[in-house]
Amino acid sequence: MNSLPQNEPDGDAAITRRALLRYGATGIACASGAGALLWYFYRESMNAMPAEIFTGDCPSGATWDQWVRRGWVKEATHYLKVARNVQCKICPNNCVLKPDDRSHCRNKVNRDGVLYTLAYGNPCTFHVDPVEKKPLFHFLPGTKAFSLATSGCVFRCLNCQNWEISQKKPEETKDAAGQPLALCVPLPQTLSNDDLRRLSLFPRDLPGVARALGCPSIAYTYSEPTAYYEYTNDCCKAARDAGIRNIVVTCGSIEERPLRDLARNVDAAHVDLKGFSEEVYRKLNSGRLRTILNTLKLYQELGVWFEVINLIVPTYTDDLDAIKRMCGWIADNLGPDRPLHFSRFHPLHRLTHLPPTPSDVLRKAREIARNAGLHYVYIGNAPEIDDAAFTWCPGCKRNIVERDVFAVTRCDVVNGRCRFCQTPIAGYWG
Ligand code: SF4
Repeated sequence: MNSLPQNEPDGDAAITRRALLRYGATGIACASGAGALLWYFYRESMNAMPAEIFTGDCPSGATWDQWVRRGWVKEATHYLKVARNVQCKICPNNCVLKPDDRSHCRNKVNRDGVLYTLAYGNPCTFHVDPVEKKPLFHFLPGTKAFSLATSGCVFRCLNCQNWEISQKKPEETKDAAGQPLALCVPLPQTLSNDDLRRLSLFPRDLPGVARALGCPSIAYTYSEPTAYYEYTNDCCKAARDAGIRNIVVTCGSIEERPLRDLARNVDAAHVDLKGFSEEVYRKLNSGRLRTILNTLKLYQELGVWFEVINLIVPTYTDDLDAIKRMCGWIADNLGPDRPLHFSRFHPLHRLTHLPPTPSDVLRKAREIARNAGLHYVYIGNAPEIDDAAFTWCPGCKRNIVERDVFAVTRCDVVNGRCRFCQTPIAGYWG
């Protein structure tokens, strides 16, 4: 087991200032000394996130019993106990829950002083997607990824394209009262919406399902795998043991310890870098830039293949100076071979009043990234730009991979090298 021993405070994880004030742990203050306490308050205030706690929203009675019987409830990992209160340490929201409270991501509850996830073995959606749709352009190109999600998210993005699941609690997407139904091999011919609401998919069955559907990889995507961390982690372990690759499509807002644990079994990640300003991150996503940059550097350190995606949202993240700083940071910290995907915004969720990102802004962003020295720069959701999804060899400058939307139509990468000049092309080419 890679996870923390349950309920034991770890060195750099402690109760937040909010918890300290709320629950009056004055003994800690006396023991630590005033200086340490001041430093602690300072550090915690710098880390503070606007966690939204749903007071008294833990399911109870028959509903709780049904969820337990289904196997959709599991004790969380990476959390602390403060008397009968708990604090989740998976993401920087660091939710502090009193008994019967529900977390910011809507997936976790405190029941009788124990933190449980309700997002376990109960995906609310799954599809077979081209891996290019994640998007990952340098990882097993031309293959399919079995893609799944539960409800819930650690962010509150104003432009969320999957808000109908990311901003819902598990009970709003699943039905534990109906007849149980498990997805496993042999696969059913059809599944109705009612089936999907009743359906379980446990980690032990997942590799067989992916294989039966011709998928060499599984993608944890659509909502946010950090919000269903325990399920993601167990699925990744089961898939790795079965020789199936794991792909995490994430906002990157995760604490270091859980990320290190998870990354042991992750083969590739798509990490959203949603902007390059703390202020914009706070307003647009209710997140924090610093955390995402740390996550990117940690993935780099751990040697996990990942690609960076930046959605250009008019009036929020279309500032070309900020894009220039972001590209410089990527080149300096992640290197010139790290793929960067700019993506066009479409009016969605709470930003329906904004226009789609203009073509000229996307083209300028690509030019800035190339001028910063990045070798692999792409533009997504822009069919009018012919070469938006082409890969150019950094050695001979030829076009070596062509894609039409998500289909690879030509690939001149052989054994990880350009067919024409033998320059190594970063990624996992299969
Ligand atoms: S993963 Fe969920 S419960 Fe845990 S800190 Fe983040 S938002 Fe809170």
